[in-house]
Amino acid sequence: MPVIAFVLVRTVPGTSHELIASRKIKGVKMAHSVFGRYDAVLVLAAKDLEELSKTIYEVVEKHPNVVHTETLIAMPYPPREVKQPLEKPHTVISFHCPSCHHLVEQGSTICPFCGYVFQ
Ligand SMILES: [Zn+2]
Repeated sequence: MPVIAFVLVRTVPGTSHELIASRKIKGVKMAHSVFGRYDAVLVLAAKDLEELSKTIYEVVEKHPNVVHTETLIAMPYPPREVKQPLEKPHTVISFHCPSCHHLVEQGSTICPFCGYVFQ
């Protein structure tokens, strides 16, 4: 399962561009200096978590001007489907609007078709 990670990095002021140069490294898909609480954001892609941590080490951890990092690992997409037992056919209890005779779901207080207010 391929892994994508967003690495938020805080660097020593004025050095985030050094980190951006790492976009040449294999596994680094994007690298940008950013405004905000972090100085740079990197997008990494790896074939698994092991490779990802190697890339993070290569790019970030051993970088002398990195002060702080936060790594956000993307959820696999699409999310793995949870097998549901076949849904039982369910009956929606409904009644006819006395005004327009449309079928209206039980418990409605107002007819969605004509606006008739049920007592
Ligand atoms: Zn109606």
